Amino acid sequence: MKRISIVGGGQSGLQLGIGLVQKGFDVKIIQDRTGPELAAGRVMSSQCQFDAALQLERDLGINFWEDACPPVEGISFSVPNPEGPGKAVDWSARLDRKAQSIDQRVKMPRWIEEFERLGGKMEIATADIAMLEREAKAADLVIVASGKGEIGKLFERDAGRSPFAAPQRALALTYVHGMTPRPEHSAVNFNLIPGVGEYFVFPALTTSGPCEIMVFEGIPEGPMDCWKDVSTPAEHLARSKQILEKFVPWEAERCTNIELTDGNGILAGRFPPTVRKPVGTLPSGAKILGLGDAVCLNDPITGQGANNAAKAAAVYLDAIVAHGDGAFDETWMRATFETFWTYAQWVVRWTNMMLLPPPPFVLELMGSAQVLPELAHRIANGFDDPRDFFPWFADPDAAGSYLTSLKAA
Ligand SMILES: Cc1cc2nc3c(=O)[nH]c(=O)nc-3n(C[C@H](O)[C@H](O)[C@H](O)COP(=O)(O)OP(=O)(O)OC[C@H]3O[C@@H](n4cnc5c(N)ncnc54)[C@H](O)[C@@H]3O)c2cc1C
Repeated sequence: MKRISIVGGGQSGLQLGIGLVQKGFDVKIIQDRTGPELAAGRVMSSQCQFDAALQLERDLGINFWEDACPPVEGISFSVPNPEGPGKAVDWSARLDRKAQSIDQRVKMPRWIEEFERLGGKMEIATADIAMLEREAKAADLVIVASGKGEIGKLFERDAGRSPFAAPQRALALTYVHGMTPRPEHSAVNFNLIPGVGEYFVFPALTTSGPCEIMVFEGIPEGPMDCWKDVSTPAEHLARSKQILEKFVPWEAERCTNIELTDGNGILAGRFPPTVRKPVGTLPSGAKILGLGDAVCLNDPITGQGANNAAKAAAVYLDAIVAHGDGAFDETWMRATFETFWTYAQWVVRWTNMMLLPPPPFVLELMGSAQVLPELAHRIANGFDDPRDFFPWFADPDAAGSYLTSLKAA
C-alpha cells in the first residue's frame, strides 16, 4: 500500500487525504492545530465555493452541510455614482447552481474526524524541515498543503507567474448575525468603489448557525486600508459599519441590527498573490510537491482560493490513483501541477486583472450587464469556472465583438 504524507489539514490537504484513504492509500496528515483548536480559533477565510468545487465534496461524501448552510443563489454588482448618491451600475443575476460558504472552523474539525474515522492518521505538529525529511524517508510522496504557512517558502516564487511582489489589498472579514436579507434572492453582493476598493457580502454557515460574511478589500494606503488602529472586536464591527455608511450606504441600510457572530469572527491582514514552483527540494535532495495556496495563492477579490484548492486536490487525487506502481518523481510532480495549471492559469489571470483599475472595455462590459441579462448571467456564472471569461473579458476586440453580438440578438 502506498504511503502519502500531507502537511496541512485545510481545504486541499484534508480533501485530498480523505479521497486517498477512500481509495485505500496509507495517509498521514501533519496539522498544526487540532479540530477543537480550529473550531475555537479565529476565522480564516470567507470560503465561498461555487458548484464545481462543491460537487467535488459531494463526490467524496463530505458535503455534510448541504442543507444546513444557506445557499448563495446569485451575484449582484454595484458601482456607486461618482456624482452623488445612489449607484452608477447595478445588476444581479442568478447562479445556475447554488454556491455555499461553510466556515472553515466548522468544516475542518468535521473533516479531521471523518479522515480519522476512515483510517487516516493525524499528527498534530508544526512541520519543519527535519520533519519533512523524516516523512520523505518514510513515505512514497510528501505533499505540502500548508496554505499561507511559512513552510511554503520552501517552494521558489515563480516570478513569471506572479506579477505582484507586494499585497494588492488590505483585507478584512466581519462575520455577523442580524443582517437584513437582500430582496428577491440571496447573493454575493459585490460593490466596486473606484479608487477605494471592494466590499462584498454573502450568507454563510458559522459555528453559531447561519450568518453573513462581510469582506473588505481596501486598496493599500487608501481610505479602506483602515484596520491598523482597530484593537477590539467591537471596534472592528464599528469600523466595518463606518466604511459602509461612507461608501456604500445601501449596504449600511442592511446592517442596522448586525452583531458579531463571536469575538473571533473578525480578521484583518494582507499578502501578495504568489504562484510558486510546485516542486521543492529538501537539504537531503528529496523532492516534495506543493498543493493549494502553498503554491498558488490568489487575492480573495474573486473568491477563488478555496475553489482552486478543492480543484487542485481533485487533480492530484486522480493523478496519484492513475499513477499505479509508478514512482512519484520530480517529472510526475511537475506534470501533476501543470495539469492543474491548465485550469488555474485562467483563474490567476482573471483574479490579478480584477486587482488593477478596470480598463474602459471592462467598465463597458460591467455596465452593459445592466441591460443585457445574458451577459449578467454569464459574468455571475463565470465565478464557477473563470475559463469562461476568456478571451472576451481580457481583450478589447473580443469584448467589442461579444457585446455587438449580444446587442444584435
Ligand atoms: C480574507 C480571505 C477571504 C477568502 N475568501 C474566499 C472565498 O470567498 N472563496 C474562496 O474560494 N477562497 C477564499 N479565500 C481563500 C481560501 O480560504 C484558501 O484559498 C483556502 O483555504 C486554501 O486552502 P489550502 O488547503 O491551500 O490551505 P488552508 O486552508 O489555509 O490550510 C492550510 C493548513 O495548514 C496548516 N499549516 C500551515 N503550516 C503548517 C505546518 N508547518 N505544519 C502543519 N500544519 C501547517 C494551517 O494551520 C492550515 O490549517 C479567502 C482567503 C482569505 C484570507
